[in-house]
Amino acid sequence: MTSDVIPPGSTIGILGGGQLGRMTAMGAARLGYRALSYSPEADAIAGQVAPHMQGAYDDTAALARFAAEVDVITYEFENVPERTVAACARHKPVRPGVRPIHFAQHRLREKEFFRKAGIGTADYQPIATATDLAAATALPGILKTCTDGYDGKGQARVATRDELVAAWARFDRRECILEALVDFQCEVSAIVARSLDGQTRCFPIGRNEHRDGILRTTTVPSGLPGGVLAEAQRLGQQLATSLDLVGLVALEMFVTRDGRVLANEMAPRPHNSGHWTIDACATSQFEQLVRAICGLPLGPVDVLRPSRMENLIGDEAIAWPRYLADPTARLHLYGKAKARPGRKMGHVTYLVPE
Ligand code: ADP
Ligand code: MG
Repeated sequence: MTSDVIPPGSTIGILGGGQLGRMTAMGAARLGYRALSYSPEADAIAGQVAPHMQGAYDDTAALARFAAEVDVITYEFENVPERTVAACARHKPVRPGVRPIHFAQHRLREKEFFRKAGIGTADYQPIATATDLAAATALPGILKTCTDGYDGKGQARVATRDELVAAWARFDRRECILEALVDFQCEVSAIVARSLDGQTRCFPIGRNEHRDGILRTTTVPSGLPGGVLAEAQRLGQQLATSLDLVGLVALEMFVTRDGRVLANEMAPRPHNSGHWTIDACATSQFEQLVRAICGLPLGPVDVLRPSRMENLIGDEAIAWPRYLADPTARLHLYGKAKARPGRKMGHVTYLVPE
């Protein structure tokens, strides 16, 4: 342990007020930390489990008051404006810092960062001008807006140049990236913690299924060959080290039919595909984040039970009595008032019976 330990009893500041912030606050409480979240919403769900401060992301005076109340600051989503994070960093340590946000917020910068770090990706091309459009060869592909996309939003599958032209017009000719469509056998993610003294620890690799661009299930163990898992872990660790981050980073990857592992995108925060760790791993991803940013030793990542996490999306959470009645299910509801289509309302982790 370094001398920079932020001990239990200290307060962790969280930028963002959604379910990841809520579960980070719960992970912090388990180790005797306080949490204070900050976001523009009046009724942030993170505020149901720990104090929440309502403030705009560009209100530097409010951010300074927030920073004064806490000992270390983290963020629960990567679209917090870079300037907000930088403003906080003038007052208190922000972990994982401004740099990971800079790359994670912009798909083109992100892909360039992967390549520079020696992490392979699908072929891609920037689409910022009509000239780029005319020169595009990564077809069939997926056109993605460089900023503000999540859960499949800001994406269009395009098979032909005509479809590409139409999709770009639909995105108001914003800066985009065209990625070649990867014919994958499955998707996986590596969630890696990196401590203040530069040690990394990767959670066991989860196999992810998406529907309509939204994560549906994560299964651990993944059933994939050891060589693929080792490569996925290596790439995740390579990413954490290249970003020089302190905290957590998730790397979403494709496993191609011929067994190669390609990076898709990263998130420098706890990740939906790591929710299984709450019920089925020796240390949850949220506790691991707290350990990393507070200078504590990283926790063990042994799988306690094989598990399958399922997201509860839209009105699926109405079936909560059924999950409660199932002895293999561990139910988590996020306290969101309204179920909208595509909105993540909770998740269930099924533990495989022994
Ligand atoms: P988001 O920020 O919405 O999660 P992603 O880039 O991860 O955006 O895309 C969401 C999903 O769309 C991926 O998990 C994958 O299933 C599919 N997808 C994205 N890019 C590609 C690609 N280049 N080839 C094949 N499928 C893709
Ligand atoms: Mg994704």
